Amino acid sequence: MNRTLDEVALDASTCTRCRLSAGRTQVVFGDGTGRSGVMFIGEGPGFHEDKQGLPFVGAAGQLLNRLLGEVGLSRQDVRIVNVVNCRPPGNRDPLPDEIEACNPWLEELIRIFDPRVIVTLGNFATRVILERPVSISRVRGQKEIVGGRVVIPTFHPAAILRGGGDASAQMGAIRSDFAAIVEAVKDAPAPVEEQLGLF
Ligand code: URA
Repeated sequence: MNRTLDEVALDASTCTRCRLSAGRTQVVFGDGTGRSGVMFIGEGPGFHEDKQGLPFVGAAGQLLNRLLGEVGLSRQDVRIVNVVNCRPPGNRDPLPDEIEACNPWLEELIRIFDPRVIVTLGNFATRVILERPVSISRVRGQKEIVGGRVVIPTFHPAAILRGGGDASAQMGAIRSDFAAIVEAVKDAPAPVEEQLGLF
């Protein structure tokens, strides 16, 4: 029997599959209904996400919200998740074994929300979903079909905010990727229930 979101979230809330469980305040299991058919996958909770139990509520979240608004998507209508659900100490990168330990949760979320479009934010999410050691600067904006879903890799908003690159070029690129999300949702076939008018 497939479990519901509430059942899976309850199970995940006591997860001890990796060392990150020791330092977390709470598991951050995602936000949004996903009813637009779009799922965003980030890296992992930061300080504010760990405290509030919600993904992308800090500065990167503000930028994500702005980009969503610019293309007419609301945060409530997408689903936002991460490759790891617990905050890495000091906001370090998640380690390969932590990403692997958390992957069954991500897979279960993808099954439950069944998104038509997956947007991977940054290197970690992109590598997990494409299952290749790609670099985001090379593959961003290149749509791929994975398991019948459109995958759109783009920059992580935090990477743009951190600086170090050409911020205005990166903003132009991420804006064009967000415009592509809307096109991809329109092009992707609707789930059967929607075609039958059940939603
Ligand atoms: N960065 C992420 O990758 N995920 C969050 O939830 C917040 C910031």
